[in-house]
Amino acid sequence: MEALVVPRLPFRKAGDRLKRFIPQRAVFEPAALEYPLGKELHAHFRELGIEIQKTPSHNRVTGIPGKTPKEKYVQAKQSLVIGVRRTLKFSSCKPSAHFQLPLATSCPGFCEYCYLQTTLGPKPVLRVYVNIEEVLEQAQKYIDERAPEITIFEGAATSDPIPVEYLTGSLRKSIEFFAGTELGRFRFVTKFGDVDSLLDIDHKGHTEIRYSLNTQTVIGQYEKGTAPLAERIEAARKTSLAKYPLGFLIAPIIAYDNWKEEYSQVIEDLASSLADDSKPSFELITHRFTKKAKNNIEQVFPDSTLPMDEEERQYKYGQFGYGKWVYPKETMAEIRDFFEEKLAQTFPQSEIKYLV
Ligand code: SF4
Repeated sequence: MEALVVPRLPFRKAGDRLKRFIPQRAVFEPAALEYPLGKELHAHFRELGIEIQKTPSHNRVTGIPGKTPKEKYVQAKQSLVIGVRRTLKFSSCKPSAHFQLPLATSCPGFCEYCYLQTTLGPKPVLRVYVNIEEVLEQAQKYIDERAPEITIFEGAATSDPIPVEYLTGSLRKSIEFFAGTELGRFRFVTKFGDVDSLLDIDHKGHTEIRYSLNTQTVIGQYEKGTAPLAERIEAARKTSLAKYPLGFLIAPIIAYDNWKEEYSQVIEDLASSLADDSKPSFELITHRFTKKAKNNIEQVFPDSTLPMDEEERQYKYGQFGYGKWVYPKETMAEIRDFFEEKLAQTFPQSEIKYLV
């Protein structure tokens, strides 16, 4: 079968150190052009000679090419919609936060197991919003309603917000906003390393930056279009020096040949890179899949080698009626023992928030 051709992320301009996402087409909602950021992005993409389209109305995107599921998927991930966030009712985000903070939707990465494949449908176009100020005003209302309790917002529930940050500055504005609130807290997770624009912010410890890590074997095979491990660890190092609260998601943990040696190496490299006083938290998620996710993956990545043989798994019923295929009990116990021991040795001050 024909292999998925993942587009290379081109350099934004000569001299840029990191590869940055540049869409193949920029699609503007008419109302977005009434905002300063919308106008700025329009001028920016025109200058770069990128195809510009306009949506006929809010939230209607047509004109994304592609016939097969794979083509539609790839083309959608190279299309950036610049829109206005109209729905200012935030979704809940249990258990990691109280609310999702809507900063962006979708992501230019091609992780084969990405959960957004199930939630965003066959054409996961990227979206950014030009009215972040209105989104943050709404966040303040949620904070006020819950006072005197702390309210936590998650900025990566529907996207990886880092690849589009250089275009919107939305994370920066959010981190500054939460630094100024007494009772608001912010967190997000990323598989990218382009965090330099966030390092000088006086964040007041109100934002936790988490990095999603894996072995380079898993990243190379299943996380195309994202940053290599070394770049994520370097970004984490800078984040620790900037004194942000720091966390790591090791996910999905895949028990392939040699997994223990390679995950050990990841943890050791991390320990030797971070600032001496950092006490990161860890969230550990073993690989699992639902029937629906497996079907989607087989359509979009027909050559995928992701281990999704039900015979080698155990079925676990979920609370909403649909279950998932997880590793059998013995493998889960081996994974648990390995990570608990390794992290206790390397990061004795750190907390494992959960391992599922
Ligand atoms: S980086 Fe995250 S959001 Fe982007 S494709 Fe990978 S898993 Fe999905």
